[in-house]
Amino acid sequence: MNKVLINDKFRQCILTEDFKEILGQEKVKKELKSALLMDRHIILVGSPGIGKTTLAKNVASILPNIEVNDCGFNCIPGNPICPECLSNKNIKKKKISGDERFIRIQGSPDLTAEDLLGDIDPMKAMKFGPLSIEAFTPGKIFRANNGILFFDEINRCSEKLQNALLQVLEEKRVTIGAYNIDFPAEFIFIGTMNPEDSSTEPLSDVFLDRFDVITMGYPETHAIEKEIVLSKGKKIPEVEFPDELIDMVIKFIRDLRIDTNIDKKPSVRSSIGIYERAQAFAFLSGHTSVTSDDIKQIMLSVLSHRIKLKPSIKYLETPEKYLEEEFNKFKGRKSGST
Ligand SMILES: [Zn+2]
Repeated sequence: MNKVLINDKFRQCILTEDFKEILGQEKVKKELKSALLMDRHIILVGSPGIGKTTLAKNVASILPNIEVNDCGFNCIPGNPICPECLSNKNIKKKKISGDERFIRIQGSPDLTAEDLLGDIDPMKAMKFGPLSIEAFTPGKIFRANNGILFFDEINRCSEKLQNALLQVLEEKRVTIGAYNIDFPAEFIFIGTMNPEDSSTEPLSDVFLDRFDVITMGYPETHAIEKEIVLSKGKKIPEVEFPDELIDMVIKFIRDLRIDTNIDKKPSVRSSIGIYERAQAFAFLSGHTSVTSDDIKQIMLSVLSHRIKLKPSIKYLETPEKYLEEEFNKFKGRKSGST
């Protein structure tokens, strides 16, 4: 096991870390900690805005400072992996923090195995020989060496790329064309997947078998979601947002999530979006305090594209119409109950 990355010092940091950037999600945090302690590859599954990136960055922030070669690939002095360090022993050294050891790769169908892993430069191959390390141009994955490889929306990648990544994670070896290149890079792998993203390639069973999947749900309680909205949402100082209206927004969004007519549920970004936009709308309208009409005026702009209706409803109603009706019903229930 690599002593630079998952070592006793890091384990100690994991044990005492409370991932306070993420509110709630205690079960997820515990699962994540146990996976990190055992040096497992992780895929975080959850809808957008749920905090997957924040959580992964939080893991990076607890990685201790280390000294590395100043080569762009975080080579450990004495154990280099990149062509530059392998051919130049006198390379400068630098100290990097945990945050600087976080590398994000955006999954997309256009991402090629060569982008990710690297490629053979034909000119250099002629000069140094095709199997020489000097002919190899390292790909993005090398920058995650001795750090965290955060692979966002991994399920958007082609199957070919999935297989290439598997080989790296399993065999620590890269196959580019006819060449096998040893790839001793060490990193903590954290991938993400959006379960509602249907435009993607399903991950194969063989692929998924190499990962532990940790599912992040919506904020567990109304109170936690409110805290997230108030701490992450922008505030206009001149405009008051009455507490009962904030509660109303959050209750409305949370009710939509359990609405069986809705396939794609509104994310936390929806709650934050309404919170911010309603204030701005109130401000532009010259109100000193947000009204429920301000909320209604901006609701569709924030929400209608963030939900998807079940096919059986979709052909009868637009999301806009549906939301408007639900909001009116909701307000009716509210005023009836108080
Ligand atoms: Zn290097």
